[in-house]
Amino acid sequence: MDFFSKVGSTISSKSKDVAKKAKELAEVSSLNGQINTQEDIINRLCLEIGKNVYERRDVFPDNALAEKYTAVSNAYAEIERLKSAIISVKGAKQCPSCGVEVVLDAVFCPACGALVPNPEPVMYPEQTTEFDFAENDSTENDFTENSSL
Ligand SMILES: [Zn+2]
Repeated sequence: MDFFSKVGSTISSKSKDVAKKAKELAEVSSLNGQINTQEDIINRLCLEIGKNVYERRDVFPDNALAEKYTAVSNAYAEIERLKSAIISVKGAKQCPSCGVEVVLDAVFCPACGALVPNPEPVMYPEQTTEFDFAENDSTENDFTENSSL
């Protein structure tokens, strides 16, 4: 084999290596994609299983999960509080029965028919108006009278 054919065969074996590597990478990438698909299935089903277990926590209590149950319940309660806050920000009111948003003018809930009272106006109490000076003075007088006995 002369010099030039030696160089030629080296180049062609190098390009074969590159092609092999590329094919290998493509295969690994495809297999990783299939692993991701299976992991997505597992995650989706485990989430569903977890929610089912949580919903049946009263029927099948599990002390090992009690703390997590509480955390989930707190998160659900927080979501309800935030939904109420949204309704309040939008200047609407919330049905006390089913929780849907109801326009302020409505008397009954359009979804469940329950009576929906108007929300309590937000109070900003002022200390000075609630404080009764006259009454306070009389109690002071009562105290002095009692102590003089
Ligand atoms: Zn309702």
